[in-house]
Amino acid sequence: MSINREKNRIYINLNKCTGCRSCEIACSYHFSKTFNPEISSISVIRNDRTGDIKISINSTCDFCKDEDKPLCMKYCVSQALSII
Ligand code: SF4
Ligand code: SF4
Repeated sequence: MSINREKNRIYINLNKCTGCRSCEIACSYHFSKTFNPEISSISVIRNDRTGDIKISINSTCDFCKDEDKPLCMKYCVSQALSII
């Protein structure tokens, strides 16, 4: 996958997102080869009372440099993430 880090963005489709947080786990694995959401570039907050979901991606995201595909996208079974 060819990604232009200046022009491309990760698009989050909240209508598809279930709040499973697999993307956080996958992101931390990219950076540290461990499963630690606290160091992830992507953050998922789900309000269990209302079901509202908020996702943000901070500036540490490197579009998964050296991976064949951004891991957050690769392991999102809901296909809620895409590159635009
Ligand atoms: S892996 Fe996909 S469905 Fe799960 S929280 Fe992340 S964006 Fe949402
Ligand atoms: S593209 Fe890679 S570094 Fe960026 S949020 Fe997704 S998993 Fe994390």
